[in-house]
Amino acid sequence: MVLERGEVANSWRRERWDSLRLLTPNWQSRLPGYRYEGVDPDGFMTMAEVIEFVSHFAAVAEAPVRTQTTVTSVTQSDAGYLVTTDRGDVHCRCLVLASGACNLPSVPAHQQAVPASLEHFTPMDYRNPNQLPDGGVLVVGASATGVQLAHEIHQSGRPVTLSVGEHVRLPRMYRGRDVLWWMEASGVWNQRYDEIDDITRARGLPSPQLVGTSERVTLDLNALTAAGVTLVGRLATVRDGRALFSGGLRNQLTLADLKMDRLLDTFDQWANTSPGDADVDAPERFEATRVPTSSPLHLDLASGEIRSIVWATGYRPDYRWLHMPVIDRNGSLRHDGGVLDLPGLYAIGLPFLRRRKSTFIHGAEDDARDLVEHLAGYLANPRAESARSG
Ligand SMILES: Cc1cc2nc3c(=O)[nH]c(=O)nc-3n(C[C@H](O)[C@H](O)[C@H](O)COP(=O)(O)OP(=O)(O)OC[C@H]3O[C@@H](n4cnc5c(N)ncnc54)[C@H](O)[C@@H]3O)c2cc1C
Repeated sequence: MVLERGEVANSWRRERWDSLRLLTPNWQSRLPGYRYEGVDPDGFMTMAEVIEFVSHFAAVAEAPVRTQTTVTSVTQSDAGYLVTTDRGDVHCRCLVLASGACNLPSVPAHQQAVPASLEHFTPMDYRNPNQLPDGGVLVVGASATGVQLAHEIHQSGRPVTLSVGEHVRLPRMYRGRDVLWWMEASGVWNQRYDEIDDITRARGLPSPQLVGTSERVTLDLNALTAAGVTLVGRLATVRDGRALFSGGLRNQLTLADLKMDRLLDTFDQWANTSPGDADVDAPERFEATRVPTSSPLHLDLASGEIRSIVWATGYRPDYRWLHMPVIDRNGSLRHDGGVLDLPGLYAIGLPFLRRRKSTFIHGAEDDARDLVEHLAGYLANPRAESARSG
């Protein structure tokens, strides 16, 4: 039984902005036994297309979904788990937590010190620039969401200041192929969680600066500054009505460039050793991110120059209904590749759950296969301790 508080594909229906397209190409949109088969494999789905894609999968897979059913509490019971919903209780021996990694916007506490005259938006309530008051906009966060919203808002005619912390820079195209083709072909996306030195850090990495457009544009910080967006450092705090930014912008830019080049080196090495598979153009390198000649270290938020703030500072899961000792101090589930430390309890759909690609739609397939195998083993033989991760 699959419990869903809204409709199938609820997060895509309710929690995304109007212009959003997937940043993964259509050919990469895959679910178990099901893939995109339209006429534009290199295109990027609109939200309406994603909703159709996921809903169609639910229909052909005959997924036993109970929609409009909100889980309000989960506790352990003698036989397994007691799941309380707004439409009655469910008892189960095994439970898979698939409630998503992005239920709530993750907004820093400085938000409370922002002068009351400013309006606040998060990617979950932002729909389009018409919602924003006229005037300057501070976008905090320069990952996929931040760069996309900064660009769209700037195009609406509002001056945009973008606060840049740690970020992952990627070109849309590399050596004539989509960069996500390289991630897949070179094996980077299949890297396993138990092969990574610092999995906690890898799980917390921001999303890459990518956008899905028919022109296959690269939306990096050079593109944004060329368009007229002002870059500032990471938002350190808000004090006396002023936003104070870190002086480490140059370092952040250099670091992201270095990491991008290192990843491109990995792609090149793979291409050199797989000549038969790699029908690609010659290696290339991209212009370093241009460091602004002067980047303000503070911004007077009470002056009227900035009228709204968009907190593109990430998301977090919401486990307030989960009443079991499986959550750490940071609000993350403790798990070993999706296997939790209680019998018959699993999670799926979290960043780097079992593989680097786990955070994406197409990452679910391999993770699901592994976890279902484990789950079936547990049901067949609940006492076997061997049924631990692997
Ligand atoms: C802005 C944004 C852009 C993205 N772009 C891409 C992309 O381009 N390509 C890509 O591959 N991935 C992308 N992703 C990641 C993608 O969203 C995830 O890979 C995918 O949604 C994970 O699916 P899921 O079913 O695990 O989680 P979700 O899609 O979050 O689904 C969780 C479901 O659980 C339901 N739920 C939550 N709590 C309860 C409860 N208490 N009771 C009942 N139901 C509940 C929710 O309503 C929701 O329908 C993006 C994510 C975001 C936030």
